[in-house]
Formats: sequence, structure tokens, C-alpha cells
Amino acid sequence: MSIAGSCLCGKVRFEIEKAVGPFEICHCSRCRKVSGSIGLPMVGVLAQDYRLVSGAEFVQLYMAPLLRRPPRYHTHFCSNCGSPVPPARASGERMEIPAGLFDDDLKLKPDKHIFVECIASWDEITDSLPRFTLRELIRERTK
Ligand SMILES: [Zn+2]
Ligand SMILES: [Zn+2]
Repeated sequence: MSIAGSCLCGKVRFEIEKAVGPFEICHCSRCRKVSGSIGLPMVGVLAQDYRLVSGAEFVQLYMAPLLRRPPRYHTHFCSNCGSPVPPARASGERMEIPAGLFDDDLKLKPDKHIFVECIASWDEITDSLPRFTLRELIRERTK
């Protein structure tokens, strides 16, 4: 049973076999711009479990200017409706997909908040999930 996802207009459609995580709610200023909201909930998926079903011709890449250190922030979006979308083809072994794009149940819940040092002044985390700053996240990942 695959899990389907799509953009706002439905031109870009994709599916995954399963969501493996991590499932992070990113509060960075750039995810906030992309979503127009608190940031982006991003779910980890294995590249081999991802497949674009339709709309490759609508998938565009935007590379943001480098702020501090590589990798540069980038986002794929649908050129017809502007929704963030996954890349047409996965690069590397894993990828992160904005969770709001899924039409089916992900069967996974968010496990942490990240970039909490960037949180918007009007945003407030009210759940009990672990919270990580970028620095803490890097420390955690290099353990
Ligand atoms: Zn679209
Ligand atoms: Zn972010």
C-alpha cells in the first residue's frame, strides 16, 4: 500500500512506500517563507521508496543564496500552483518531503522541533516533543 501525495493543483503527483523518519518540524526562516506559516514539517523517506507519478515538467528548483555554510537551502516547487513539492528524482539515499503534501495517512507522527532558535515571535510550541537548535542538532547527528 503506497502513500500518495500531490501539490495544490494536482499536476505534481508522487507516492512513497513508507515514511521512515525522522519527522521534523523545522522553524527556520526559510521554511517559514516557503510555507507562509510556522515553518515546514518534513518527513524522511528512503529514495528507493519514492516515485514521481506525474508532473515532472512542472517541478522547478529554487536555490537560495548561501547564508552561513553549505549546503545551500533549496526548494522544489510546482510551477503551476507554487506548492512546495519533492524533487522529480531523489538524489542520495534519503530525502525529506513536506508532510502537508500527503493525501494519505503517513502513519508516522512528528518526533522533534528543529531550528527552534529561529522561531517566529508569534509562534509558540505547545507540545512536549524534543526541541533542537541547529547547534544541538549537529551535535546530535555527529554523536
Ligand atoms: Zn501544482
Ligand atoms: Zn527549515
